[in-house]
Amino acid sequence: MTAHPGGQDPRTRELAQALAVVNGRIEAACAATGRSPGELTLVVVTKTHPVDDVIRLAGLGVRHVGESRDQEAGPKAAQVRAAVGDIGLHWHFVGRLQSNKARHVARYADLVHSVDRASLVEALDRGAQAAGRRLDCLVQVSLDVDPSRGGAPPRDVPGLADRIAACAGLRLAGVMAVAPLDADPLVAFGTLVGVSTRLCRDHPDATVISAGMSGDLEAAVTVGATHLRVGSAVLGHRAPLG
Ligand SMILES: *Cc1c(COP(=O)(O)O)cnc(C)c1O
Repeated sequence: MTAHPGGQDPRTRELAQALAVVNGRIEAACAATGRSPGELTLVVVTKTHPVDDVIRLAGLGVRHVGESRDQEAGPKAAQVRAAVGDIGLHWHFVGRLQSNKARHVARYADLVHSVDRASLVEALDRGAQAAGRRLDCLVQVSLDVDPSRGGAPPRDVPGLADRIAACAGLRLAGVMAVAPLDADPLVAFGTLVGVSTRLCRDHPDATVISAGMSGDLEAAVTVGATHLRVGSAVLGHRAPLG
């Protein structure tokens, strides 16, 4: 990264401003529903954006970053660590995950948001145990009639959750969903909260609700999300995934 003595480089200023706007939106949504912003974890989704942007965000105090493809996330996590050291950055894996990549993801991810089938549970567990780690996992819930965007149907969530909870290398942390394109996000996230409430009866520690992106974070705050996954509202437009 080019040094800008005496001040931030233009991209850092741009990111700082966008981050302030997003934090302002979170604060306003919290104020409207009587929540405290401290209840929410903002995961900044940096997919397709360069390592330097992650380093800039870390410099701005961001400690939770999200990625959606192993071939991008693995090298990025290593490069950021080499540049900034161990500053307590948490890596969230939010994208669709192939079982053959799970072993690698289990080495650097801190929270996998997208566990939606039994074969993935087994692969992540093997990877985490091989790495000597305990990996936090969310069950991704499909709120869509079209299952192409990933996620397990709500009826499959209890079984998957029990499987995760039974794994020595994994810890069941909660649920995640992406709102369907054509749905009212308040209704969709309301369904997710219902799934979470039922899950917590059997697994009281699985309290994470990951919902809300750049376009619908207010709805997620309103229904009770604990984690927001925000990309373009902080980093700007991204090139299509290759
Ligand atoms: C890319 C992505 C996000 C961030 O989306 P934006 O609309 O850019 O905020 C959130 N969640 C998942 C699963 C993603 O793949």
